[in-house]
Amino acid sequence: MLELRNIVKIYETANLRQVALNDVSVAFRDSEFVAVLGQSGSGKTTMLNVVGGLDRFQSGDLVIDGISTKDYKARDWDAYRNNRIGFVFQSYNLIPHQTILSNVELALTLSGVSRGERRKRAMEALERVGLAEHVGKKPSQLSGGQMQRVAIARALINDPEILLADEPTGALDSKTSVQVMDLLRDVAQDRLVIMVTHNPELAHQYATRIVELADGEVIADSRPFVPGTEEVREAKPVRRTSMGFLTALSLSFNNLMTKKGRTLMTSFAGSIGIIGIAAILALANGTNAYIAQTEEETLGAYPLTIQKSGMDMSSALSAQVEAASSEKPSDGKVGVSKLRTLADDIRDTKTNDLASLKAFLDGNGGKVNSYVNAIEYDYDVTPQIFQADTSKDNIQVSPDQAM
Ligand code: ADP
Ligand code: MG
Repeated sequence: MLELRNIVKIYETANLRQVALNDVSVAFRDSEFVAVLGQSGSGKTTMLNVVGGLDRFQSGDLVIDGISTKDYKARDWDAYRNNRIGFVFQSYNLIPHQTILSNVELALTLSGVSRGERRKRAMEALERVGLAEHVGKKPSQLSGGQMQRVAIARALINDPEILLADEPTGALDSKTSVQVMDLLRDVAQDRLVIMVTHNPELAHQYATRIVELADGEVIADSRPFVPGTEEVREAKPVRRTSMGFLTALSLSFNNLMTKKGRTLMTSFAGSIGIIGIAAILALANGTNAYIAQTEEETLGAYPLTIQKSGMDMSSALSAQVEAASSEKPSDGKVGVSKLRTLADDIRDTKTNDLASLKAFLDGNGGKVNSYVNAIEYDYDVTPQIFQADTSKDNIQVSPDQAM
């Protein structure tokens, strides 16, 4: 049982305040075929959206099975919309690139029903609306009346307690309109159908009750319902909305595949970025490696040599330069020449302890191995090598005797 109590719905835009529903109170039976009539702009669509939980309102209450929805959370509204309400629109709202079977099946994916069961129920729903032999067609291959029947099958597949139809015959000629009305009357046998129409003839012919709206107010009701005065059917248990992970995954994949062009462009644009970054990294890496190699080769040509005795050549040289530039004697002064002799240099000669240096290097002292390419040792030993053939004389090969 569904009841609107003093619903006020106002649309407020920047410079306009439009009262779409002005204190509307109306209750519906569990199964009847209600036609909502009224001029364009009288609030019919708004009322349907409020009943379907698609629209909020400023004041009043929507009472479902005797329970107020004032404390409904988003999740409760989702469950209400998905499990208890079926929608049919004037413009069918079918997904153009999917077959009508998939279109109908899709409505079940939110109910956590298995794939096989979905297909079976979709087939049954399409049979019910007389479209069993068209299940493989796309919406564009159907007539308007057939598309609206697909939309009704889709709305019915969840077995909703309430079917809401907003001008379902608005885009149909009178012959196909009759087919759709027949179907809706049949559907209304065991559930509440609320249909908005601006065709009073069809309404009077098919509906069991006619509610008329004008300027957001109910101005006529052919068969008013006062809750509590008639027998009420027991409420169905509340079903929750859920979707399996695989279903969600395959739906997203299908969705991507239906927009192949866009998916491709996005992937392409994305890969340009990734390839670009990869190319820059590769280039930087290569340049670094090249610089390191060049450094190594350059330094390799000038090995660091440590000899047994070392002489401080720089101090010897600077001393000589100093001596050359020493002051010339002038009047009344004695010139001073700094003298440095070879004897000084020899005195300054230092001796390196190469044996312990070698032991230090061999033991990877100071982690030397990670800083050098090779360590070479020279010994002050000259091998005396002679030719083995002594028939002509003894010929010494090393050290070379030619000079
Ligand atoms: P009907 O379906 O009977 O033609 P509606 O319920 O769609 O009428 O609209 C009722 C009134 O509310 C109209 O005056 C309309 O202009 C206004 N209205 C509907 N939707 C909106 C909206 N989203 N924003 C502002 N005004 C709206
Ligand atoms: Mg409308």
